[in-house]
Amino acid sequence: MRPQPGGDDPTLAAPRHERDDARDAALVASVLDALPSPTVLIDEDGTLLLTNSAWDAMADLVGGDLLVRVGGNYFAMVLDMKDDATNRTLISTLNELSRGERRWVSSDYALPYSDGVIWFHLQASRVGESGRIVVTHTDVTSRVRAERASSWRARHDHLTNLPNRAYLHELIDAELQRPEGPPVAVLFLDVDGFKAVNDSLGHDVGDQLLRELAGRLTDGTRAEDTVGRLGGDEFVVLCRDCDVDGAEMLAQRFQSTFDQPFELGGHAVRLSASIGIAAVGRSGGPSVRSTDLVRDADLAMYAAKAAGRNRVRHFSPDLRSAAQQRMQLASQLREAIEGDQLVLHYQPVLHLPSGECTGVEALVRWQHPERGLLPPSEFVPLAEEHDLIVPLTRWVLATATRQAAAWDAAGLPLVVGVNISAHHFPAGTLVQDVAHALAVSGLPPERLVLELTETSVAEDPALAAAQFARLRISGVEVSIDDFGRGYSSLSQLISLPVGVLKIDRSLVVGVDGRMSEAAAAIAAVVSLASAFGMRTLAEGVETEEQLAVATELGCSFAQGYLIARPMPAGELADWLHARALVGVH
Ligand code: C2E
Ligand code: MG
Ligand code: MG
Repeated sequence: MRPQPGGDDPTLAAPRHERDDARDAALVASVLDALPSPTVLIDEDGTLLLTNSAWDAMADLVGGDLLVRVGGNYFAMVLDMKDDATNRTLISTLNELSRGERRWVSSDYALPYSDGVIWFHLQASRVGESGRIVVTHTDVTSRVRAERASSWRARHDHLTNLPNRAYLHELIDAELQRPEGPPVAVLFLDVDGFKAVNDSLGHDVGDQLLRELAGRLTDGTRAEDTVGRLGGDEFVVLCRDCDVDGAEMLAQRFQSTFDQPFELGGHAVRLSASIGIAAVGRSGGPSVRSTDLVRDADLAMYAAKAAGRNRVRHFSPDLRSAAQQRMQLASQLREAIEGDQLVLHYQPVLHLPSGECTGVEALVRWQHPERGLLPPSEFVPLAEEHDLIVPLTRWVLATATRQAAAWDAAGLPLVVGVNISAHHFPAGTLVQDVAHALAVSGLPPERLVLELTETSVAEDPALAAAQFARLRISGVEVSIDDFGRGYSSLSQLISLPVGVLKIDRSLVVGVDGRMSEAAAAIAAVVSLASAFGMRTLAEGVETEEQLAVATELGCSFAQGYLIARPMPAGELADWLHARALVGVH
C-alpha cells in the first residue's frame, strides 16, 4: 500500500516545508518498501501512515482484519490481538519512544492466526523529531520454536517427557511461595527391585518399564498434580492443594497401579513401590523450600523401604534425626577404619568328611568407643552407602591374611574366608586389593577364600565373571555366600569358577529330619553343585540334627553356633586345642 500525500508530484506543487515533508515521506516509503520485513510508519497516536509490501503481504496471509491497513490504528490492532499487560506495556513504550523519552523499543510478540502463530521480533525507532515511529516486524517463528523446544528439553526428562529434577524443584518452590497458599504434599516413589529388572532383562526393558510407569502415575493423578522424574527409578509427585490424608489416598492409588503386572519384552513383571510423603500446611510458611520437602519425602521413602518395601511412610522429624545419626556414624566409621577400632572375629568351618576344622570365616565387628562391640549389620550397610566399603574391606583383607599367615607359622594351616560386598565390584580394585593383601602378609593365595553373595553376581554378571576369572587365576578361591536367600538360580552361577556354595541358614534352619522339604532342597543343591565341581557348606548349623543331615546329604563343610560362635583370634588356638583334647570328630 502506497502513501497518499496529495498531488501527482508532491515535491513540486506544494510549499517548501510541505515539499520537504513529502520528499521525506516518499523517501521513507521507498526505503520501507526495500525492507524484507513487514514494516509500518505510525503517527504518535498509532495511526498507520505507511506500510511496506511485506506488511501488506503479511496482512493478506493472516487474512481477516487482523493486521490494519493504512489509516487504521496500530495501537488498537495490538489491543485487539490481546488486551493484556504485555501489550499495554508495548503501547506505552511506543508512546514514550514517540515523545523522545526512549531511543528504541524492541520486543517479541506472538500473532495467532487461523493457521497457527507467527512470532515477531518488533523493533521501533523514531523518525526525526516528528514523533512518528517506524516499526519493523521480523519473523522469528523458527527461532522461537527452537528456543522453546530447547527450553522444554532442558526442563523435562528425555525418557518419560515428565518434568525433570530441576523443573520439579522450580514448580514445588513456586507452589510453596504462594502467600497463604493451600497445603502442599510431595510424594517420593521408588520402584522396589527396579535394579534387578534392569540387570536381568536389560536396559531397554528398564526404560520401557519407566515409560510405562510414568504413564500409569500420570493417569493416577488429578489434573492439578504434577508427576516428575528425579532420575533412575525415583519419581516425585507434587500434589497441589493436598493435605496428608489426600496424599495418603493418592499413594494408595499409586500402589494399586502396581497390582497389574508390567508387560515387558514378553515377560509379565510384578513390581511394587515404596512411597514417602512429606506435606506442609497453610502455616508452613515461606521458609520451607522444595529441597527440604523432597528430602523429607525421600527420608520417609527410605524408611518405607527399610520397613520391608511396598509400603507408604509419612515423614516425621525423628526420621531426620535418624538420618543425621547415620551421617554421624558414617563419619565415625571413617575414623574407625583408619584408627583401628575394627576387630575381626573368626568362626571355625568344619570339614565334614574328616570332622576337622580346616578354616575360619573372618567376620568384622566395630569396637565403638561409646556403643560397645557393634555387629556388621549396624555398619556394613552404612559403609556401602557412604563409599567406605573399599577401605573397610582392605582393612579386613590385610588383617585376616596377616592372621592366617601367623597361624600358619604357628603350625595351624587354616583357610580364611573374607566377605566381599557387592559394592566393591564397581570400584574395580578388588583383584588389586586382594593381591596387595597376599603380598604384604605372605599368605599363599589358596589359603584365602572370598565370599561373595548371589546378588553381587546377579547385579552385573559380566563384571562379576571377569573379576572371578582374574581372582581364580591368582589362585584365590571364590565362594558364593548365603545361597538360597536371593533370587539367582544355580544356572547363573555354574558358569563362574566358584569353589564353594554356602547354603544359607534359612534353608538349614528348616531341616527337620532327612525327609523334610528343606532337606530335599539342600540335597538338590548339593547334587547340582557337585555335578559342576563345586563343594557345599551348610551355614548356621545350630542343632545336632542339622549337622547330621548336612553330613548325610553330602555337604563338604559346616559352620554354625553348634560348632562354635565367631571368636577373637586369640581364642581360636585354645578352642582348637580343646577340641583336639576331647577328640571331637
Ligand atoms: P555371613 O557372611 O553369612 O556370615 C555368617 C553370619 O551368620 C555371621 O553373622 C555369623 O555370626 C552368623 N552365624 C554363624 N553361625 C550361626 C548360627 O548357627 N546361627 C545364627 N543365627 N547365626 C550364625 P555376623 O558376624 O553378624 O555377620 C553378618 C553378615 O555381615 C555376614 O553374613 C556378612 O554378610 C556380613 N559381614 C561380616 N563381616 C563382613 C566383612 O568383613 N565385610 C563384609 N562386606 N561383610 C561382612
Ligand atoms: Mg560370609
Ligand atoms: Mg552367609
